[in-house]
Amino acid sequence: MPLSPMPATDCNAIRQQLGAWYDTRQRDLPWRRTSDPYAIWVSEVMLQQTQVKTVEPYFHRFLQRFPDVASLARADEQAVLKLWEGLGYYSRARHLRRAAQKVVAEMDGRLPSDWIRMRQLPGVGDYIAAAVLSIAFGRPCAVVDGNVKRVLARLLCLETPVDTPAGHKVYQAEADALLDSRDPGRHNQAMMELGALVCSPQAPRCDQCPLVRFCLCFGRGLTDRYPRRAGRRRVETQQWVAGAVLKADRLLLTRRPDQGLLAGLWEFPGGPVADRPDDLPAACMEKIRQLVGLTVASPMAVATVHHAYTHFKLRLTLFLCRHQGGRIRRAGPSACVWVRPDELARFPLHKAVHKALPALIGMLDRFRGA
Ligand code: SF4
Repeated sequence: MPLSPMPATDCNAIRQQLGAWYDTRQRDLPWRRTSDPYAIWVSEVMLQQTQVKTVEPYFHRFLQRFPDVASLARADEQAVLKLWEGLGYYSRARHLRRAAQKVVAEMDGRLPSDWIRMRQLPGVGDYIAAAVLSIAFGRPCAVVDGNVKRVLARLLCLETPVDTPAGHKVYQAEADALLDSRDPGRHNQAMMELGALVCSPQAPRCDQCPLVRFCLCFGRGLTDRYPRRAGRRRVETQQWVAGAVLKADRLLLTRRPDQGLLAGLWEFPGGPVADRPDDLPAACMEKIRQLVGLTVASPMAVATVHHAYTHFKLRLTLFLCRHQGGRIRRAGPSACVWVRPDELARFPLHKAVHKALPALIGMLDRFRGA
């Protein structure tokens, strides 16, 4: 499919202008200083859903600890999750490790350079496959992310909404048509960089844009009207409770199930409150009894923290409770362990727990003396 309203001569000029702009204006980022497909793959996985400045230190630490596919394939899942802690979207880390194991077991330890085998790796969707294949192997695969869609929508005045599956196919076709097959890695990175640095969501810097003379939205004075959206979903807020159960000088940590939300991460036992939303201390005691079979007393509110996930917002109220009786019977958690407060940092905890930790540590001494 040709680029919607764009003559072929303009397409060539766009590729050339964009590439020249990228060569002089690109940010100096660690994953751009390497041609190692493994490092490029790790960076692209981290960069999905996460900002560049957040990713940089994680990227360095990850490559230091797991410098190649083989070392990642051998790694314990908990060690990988611990290194990923705070980066969010933890399924990315689990998939990365499982994909490394597949590469070692079935692909001679080398990351594949073709689309079919690349897409067979856990966690590798169209975006990651296109990014790694084009940047690391020079394959002609166009990437489409939010930045690319925004640039295309404005450049071509595309009416197609960017936030629907059908719309995504349209943007993929346009990106395919514009791709510079002589240097697809450079072209893809240039499109994403232009969206990140110049064609920003609010107030695009059109005066600095290498594509300004081709841009239909700019010419029509419509840059603030594009990209089009089908409409935002209302994001639900869920109330959760959790109990830091204190027994002697130890706190109970539970490990989440191996599948589903925040799989494999550690937390204080708890979960969403549906049945007793008006009595959170009682709901917390009940959750603990259901999940680990313990009875607790004196729940004391420690903190209420908020965290946004992809499909919902979490409002977590953490209580500190005294262990009263019962023996651990797990119904949900994949593991339980009693730890001293100074050992908490050893475990990969999810973000909402992290946010509540300082308040918990501060309250522990008071609670013990109560
Ligand atoms: Fe985006 Fe403006 Fe460039 Fe058009 S001219 S692509 S709106 S930055």
